[in-house]
Amino acid sequence: MNKNRCIALFSGGLDSTLSVKYMEKLGYEVIPVFFETPFFTAKNALEAAAAVGIDLHVHDISQEHMQMLLNPRYGYGKNMNPCIDCHGLMFAKAAQLLEEYDAAFLISGEVLGQRPMSQRFDAMNAVRNASKVKDIIIRPLSQKLLPDTKPIRAGWVDKEKMLALQGRGRSKQIEMAKEWGIHGYQSPGGGCLLTDKVFSKRLKDLIQNQQYNLRNIQFLKVGRHFRLTENCKLIVGKTSADNKRLSDMVEDEVVLKTKEYPGPLGVLQFNKYPDDNEIELAASILLDYNNKAAEKAIVSYGKNYNLNKDIEVKKNKDKKEFQIL
Ligand code: SF4
Repeated sequence: MNKNRCIALFSGGLDSTLSVKYMEKLGYEVIPVFFETPFFTAKNALEAAAAVGIDLHVHDISQEHMQMLLNPRYGYGKNMNPCIDCHGLMFAKAAQLLEEYDAAFLISGEVLGQRPMSQRFDAMNAVRNASKVKDIIIRPLSQKLLPDTKPIRAGWVDKEKMLALQGRGRSKQIEMAKEWGIHGYQSPGGGCLLTDKVFSKRLKDLIQNQQYNLRNIQFLKVGRHFRLTENCKLIVGKTSADNKRLSDMVEDEVVLKTKEYPGPLGVLQFNKYPDDNEIELAASILLDYNNKAAEKAIVSYGKNYNLNKDIEVKKNKDKKEFQIL
């Protein structure tokens, strides 16, 4: 193991950027990795990394992350964000990469006391326990204030050279960024869909109705969502961009479209093929979101984009038989 080489958990935010740059300035070889999930894709992190000359390594942990999300040991944050377990998982995955990258320890941009849930002092320890990566994490921005870990004890990292940032204020970090010419970093906390209220409500609904899989999760990011029955949910495009995205995404779903009026696309997702009542309900909701259509009109529908069936419905005005997600 190369004791001068570490793996950094990199999010694209300022703190992780600074921790990478700081360790590099101290002479370490830093390998920044991003762990991609369906809720936090690498796109922005790759852009942020490129903007500051960081060569980012992306690893997909979707399956493990989706599994963990069903029952996080330390619970959820304000929405469906299981931050402590998520960090634990990322540290565990990073630790598994040490051999591959011939690195001796891990670093992250966490700052003591900065975020209420994932970065409190006790939560930091919980992360260490949750990840079973007991003793090889260094947080360069706060390590002076934290208990010593192996890289300090073994002399790989000089504690005196570590920083002592703490609290929610960001002025010190912004000052460091200016001094080192770092621009183009992301705003803190941005990017993870699990911290979004509406997305979290939709996700919970998928879990509750046995429709929690990677494919359905991708649809959560597009359009308006309606829970019709335990078996069936409807997605209606909100904009023409949504309609285009939905039409690109559909495979086995039932697609609905108003026959004689231009308007939004509807997509029905189901556990078993929807019955007549479910189709009628979906068609009436779709029609209601079509401003150009008459109060009563024909909606065409069919599987695999084969709209070979018609149903005449009225606009669904009372909104009682379904739940808006
Ligand atoms: S905000 Fe999202 S990506 Fe970040 S730790 Fe929390 S759950 Fe994980």
